[in-house]
Amino acid sequence: MKKIVLASQSPRRAEILKKAGYCFVSFPVFISEIPNENLSLDEQIIDIAKRKALACLDQCPDKNPGHIILASDTMVCLDNRAIGKPENEQDAFNTLKKISGKMHEVKTAIILLDQSNGHIISHIETSQVYFKNLDDKDIWDYIKTGEPMDKAGSYAIQGLGGKFVEKFVGDFNNVVGLPLTALEKLFVEKNWSFEKSPLSQIKAQLASGQNLLAVSKLQPLEKIRDLVNQGQKSFGENYIQEALEKIEALKDLNLEWHLIGPIQKNKVKYLKNNFAYLHAIDSVELAELVSKKASEIGYVQNIFIQVNLANEATKAGFDELSVQNSWSQLTALTNVKVVGLMTMPPLQNEAQENEIYFKKLKNLASQLNVKELSMGTSHDYQIALKEGATWIRIGTVLFGERQKVQ
Ligand SMILES: *Cc1c(COP(=O)(O)O)cnc(C)c1O
Repeated sequence: MKKIVLASQSPRRAEILKKAGYCFVSFPVFISEIPNENLSLDEQIIDIAKRKALACLDQCPDKNPGHIILASDTMVCLDNRAIGKPENEQDAFNTLKKISGKMHEVKTAIILLDQSNGHIISHIETSQVYFKNLDDKDIWDYIKTGEPMDKAGSYAIQGLGGKFVEKFVGDFNNVVGLPLTALEKLFVEKNWSFEKSPLSQIKAQLASGQNLLAVSKLQPLEKIRDLVNQGQKSFGENYIQEALEKIEALKDLNLEWHLIGPIQKNKVKYLKNNFAYLHAIDSVELAELVSKKASEIGYVQNIFIQVNLANEATKAGFDELSVQNSWSQLTALTNVKVVGLMTMPPLQNEAQENEIYFKKLKNLASQLNVKELSMGTSHDYQIALKEGATWIRIGTVLFGERQKVQ
């Protein structure tokens, strides 16, 4: 397993690598980015990236032979001249004015420096971007947002600057600052495999129709934000109070929240329309109450019916027979929609022992004609996926150990 050392201070490059699931260390270097005019345009950009890689090799204290230094440089090119980052607002204005109404090229050089032998690979990726006609006011309004100031070509296609772009040809990530497709092709050619995050390792195991719910109960907000930066959108919480606080604190992120813990009847009034799904509906009375409260404020609540397949006395849920007997009552409720079944096999079981429960849940769901199966946690999700889970609920493997309940 190799690990990337990212020789860049660009948050965009870090974000692209993160979303693609790579674990990496950042080691920004500061070098003069003045192009060497004696070289061809492509060579100038490669040269800057190479100088960053070598500076990183020189300065990074960690000389791990498993490390691959990744350095890159992005230039916007018009009429075969490179345009770098703006020096000030007037410079940004001049650049945007120049590329307005025209096609320009975005070139990113990548350098991979293998720390085990000092070998260097280089690649340059070129994309074409077509800009709309901008008037001076559009340009100044944009400059006042501050976005152009640290960007090659004085705009960010993934940000507010996207509205200036008529169309582009090539890898979108290249225009943002890192040509991911080309990069991964180089990795394959070199037969290098890299350390990946738990999130991307789990996602790689999902078939179509299978979803990952990140169980964030008793986990701090910054760890949730970190997973969001890696591309995760659906989060599960157990306790209503804690869930509502997190939903409020993270409302700018547009996340989908699921409530997976048991719900006390006196707490139903707090649910409102905060949760896309409730996973642990364990009685007809609770379903009725949820439906009643949902009808009062006018929405339909998606629910899973929790089935206690091992008939554990300590665990909530319908047993197999009672879920069948109650089904017509549950599905007749106007303001809940029963989407599927959920189960939580005995905690002490070995993962493989849970296979029979997952099979049972699937059979039961198919008899009752519902599609969704919420089953599998950190310890047995691989078996649950094999048995057709549509939602696996994963906490510890994604986040690490939980804080203790006070
Ligand atoms: C806590 C919890 C999970 C996640 O458990 P991990 O072992 O951390 O993956 C899943 N489902 C329910 C109902 C939970 O309460």
